[in-house]
Parts: sequence; structure tokens; C-alpha cells
Amino acid sequence: MIISIASGKGGTGKTLVATSLAISLKDRDRVQLLDCDVEEPNDHIFLRPVITISEAVCIPIPEVDEKKCTYCGKCAEVCVYHAIAVFAQHVLVFPNLCHGCGACSYLCPEKAITEVGRQIGVVECGHSNGIEFAHGKLNVGEAMPTPVIRRVKAQANRDRIVIIDVSPGTSCPVVESIKDSDFCLLVTEPTPFGLNDLILAVETVKKLKVPCGVVINRAGVGDRKVEEYCLRECIPVLLTIPLDTEIARLNSRGITLIEGMPQWKESFIGLSDRINEIMNARSGCLKR
Ligand code: SF4
Ligand code: SF4
Repeated sequence: MIISIASGKGGTGKTLVATSLAISLKDRDRVQLLDCDVEEPNDHIFLRPVITISEAVCIPIPEVDEKKCTYCGKCAEVCVYHAIAVFAQHVLVFPNLCHGCGACSYLCPEKAITEVGRQIGVVECGHSNGIEFAHGKLNVGEAMPTPVIRRVKAQANRDRIVIIDVSPGTSCPVVESIKDSDFCLLVTEPTPFGLNDLILAVETVKKLKVPCGVVINRAGVGDRKVEEYCLRECIPVLLTIPLDTEIARLNSRGITLIEGMPQWKESFIGLSDRINEIMNARSGCLKR
């Protein structure tokens, strides 16, 4: 089972839910947590994993042998990212724009282009008190998180419950992280911003055909419009976490909710059970 934890909006409590779910389940199930929020991973701050493997993530960028080049311009024509420019007697490559698609080297008639690796980030794997852990870190200034996300997801161990912490929003990194999940938990807060971004996130997971449920965090801070929306759209609200200064205090000190307030463990086990029930009901319907 792969459960992704996403939110249309940053700062809603994704990390709180991902780490709490992992810690709550670890004594009952085999659990793996993958932090795919590679531009700002922070699950490690709470789980403090022992990192045992660190691997560079590279993308292939072109290197032009100008002795073979005839300056025909075909490589620049095919590059939709404008990462390669051909002048009368020179070819310029802009590594930061290159997406490593390989089209230019494939189409070069003179075979003047070879590919060299350029590091854009790193994937680190380890463990934390029985939880298998991996996260990716995109280098500062890099614009392409998806290759790093793919490498983090490649660590997924299907023998375990895999929890994926997704970056906020609804853009490419979010799609890359959520796709192939069995279930997506959308974390939101009961405010107009929370509702607006939840609606966008729901549209995204529907397009990906991943079933979803909602966790409302900081309940009591706003109104009931998120619940009304979920009711209208038949999206189950699976857990409600109240606005609580003690939870905020633990969070600011890098202490997980379950460590600081162990009474929440049963609620997160219940959350997992409800996801299982939904998945079992769906597979029963599909078989019929
Ligand atoms: S396609 Fe090949 S030969 Fe043509 S300009 Fe580019 S590198 Fe040179
Ligand atoms: S590998 Fe793709 S993105 Fe990079 S320069 Fe070549 S065509 Fe452009």
C-alpha cells in the first residue's frame, strides 16, 4: 500500500500527518517513509534517521565535440527548453536549462554530442527506530525536482506500508510524487485559502485516478466550508486535528506529535484502518 500525503497549500501540516502516521504504525506494520518534498525536505528533522546510503542524482547534459560539429543548428531547433544555441562557429550549452531529454544527441547528424552527468541533488536512505526512511535533496538553485523525486520513489519497498510526503501545491513535482499511489491523504485547514487549494488538489488527484480522503488540521481556526465541500463531493474526512498551541509548540521544537502527545497514536492507527476499509470496499466493488 502506498499512501501519499499531499496538500494544495504549504504549511497545512503534511509533515505532522506523515511522521505521525509512520510512527503510529511502526509497531503494528512494516513502514517506510519517503520524503519527496525535495525542495524543502523536513521529515528528517522530526525522525532523526541514521543515514546509511547517500547517492548523487545526475541528469545527462550534452557536451559538443566541435571538431565533428558542422553548426547545422539541428540540436538548437529540437531543444524546446532553449538549452543549446548554435552560432556560426560555436555551440553554447546552458546546463541549468537542460532537462536531459537526450533529443539533441539523438538527432545530431554528425554524432558530435555526447552526454555527461550533471549533479542536481542527492538521495539519502536510512532508518529511524524501525521506520525505513529515504528523502531527496535538490541542490539550491536547481529548477528540476522531478528526477530527484523519481529516485526517491525508486526506493519504495512494496513489502511495507509506504508513506510519501509530497511537496505542497498541484504542479509537476506533486503529480510525480502522487502518481502510482494507492491512496492520497489531502491535508487542509478550515480557512478560505485551505478550501481553495484543497479544491485544486482534489482535481489533481481525480485526474490521476487516485482515491483520496481529507485530514482537517487546525480545526476551529476558521469555518465549516471545508467540511461542507467534502460532504458535497463525497470525500471522506478521515481525521480532524484541532488548533492546539501544544501541537504548535512541539512542532516548533522538532518533536513529533506522537512523541509529545502519545494519546494521538490511536487516532492515526484509526486513520490507517479507515483507509484500509475504503481500499477494501473499492476493490470489492471493482471485483463485482
Ligand atoms: S546538431 Fe550536431 S552538428 Fe548540428 S550544430 Fe548541433 S552539435 Fe553541431
Ligand atoms: S538534452 Fe534535451 S533539454 Fe538538454 S539541451 Fe539537449 S534537447 Fe535540450
